[in-house]
Amino acid sequence: MGLEITHLGSGSRGNATLLQTDASKVLIDCGFSGRQMERRLGMIGVAPEDIDAIMLSHHHSDHVQGAKIFSRRWGAEIHANFTTCARLGLDPVNQCRVFEALDRVQVTSDLAVLPVPVPHDDADNVGFIIHGGGNSRAAVVTDLGEPTDELRRHLKGCEHISIEANYDATRLAMGPYPARLKSRIAGRGGHLSNRQTADLLNEILTSETKSVVLCHLSDKNNAPHLAESEVLFQNDEWGGELRISGQSGPEFSHWVGQAEAEVISTRR
Ligand SMILES: [Zn+2]
Ligand SMILES: [Zn+2]
Repeated sequence: MGLEITHLGSGSRGNATLLQTDASKVLIDCGFSGRQMERRLGMIGVAPEDIDAIMLSHHHSDHVQGAKIFSRRWGAEIHANFTTCARLGLDPVNQCRVFEALDRVQVTSDLAVLPVPVPHDDADNVGFIIHGGGNSRAAVVTDLGEPTDELRRHLKGCEHISIEANYDATRLAMGPYPARLKSRIAGRGGHLSNRQTADLLNEILTSETKSVVLCHLSDKNNAPHLAESEVLFQNDEWGGELRISGQSGPEFSHWVGQAEAEVISTRR
């Protein structure tokens, strides 16, 4: 099987990504209610009790909403850094496996992740570089105000990259948000704009990267066609596959190392 990545949904109303290898099923973030998680997993034939572990990026509710209940009800172990664990009120010994930034975590027998710290206000957020199913390397990174050199180094050469493209700068500036919130989103601890994501991809994309998914798009300050056109405009020589993951997943899966995504036909 290698490594299969499925976004169960992505955006400010909830985020969760399923990683599957021959021997394991691991979630990155669990930002929907327990019932929603069960339903979304069910749409791709996965039972919640089959999930081995939940890796949390940071404590914001759109990433953790269902994590505690999921873990309690279906027995998946939560992994998080110390700040996230503390902010969730989890006991760092009995209720959470605490990881350190840039320490490779062997989550299951055939899946390991490297948490890479990224700047995000009021949170100790990490992006995840995933090693799974043989030599495959992939990345899932959201909620960062700007990319770091460290992140660039780790993203380079990943076969698959899921990265946020949160807002269009013009839409944010003209949009309904109060000025303080606008500057927080656009600041160093906010989110990546389409332009920032396009520029970052331009710096790191090579022919080794076969697929990119843009995620965590803002409903109010972005639109899929804006994110897509900005990224394609800046990366017109890259020959891989670009997709967008929305709030109402799961919509498609990527097998890392394989260019074409598989569209999930189960529609609600
Ligand atoms: Zn956040
Ligand atoms: Zn978020």
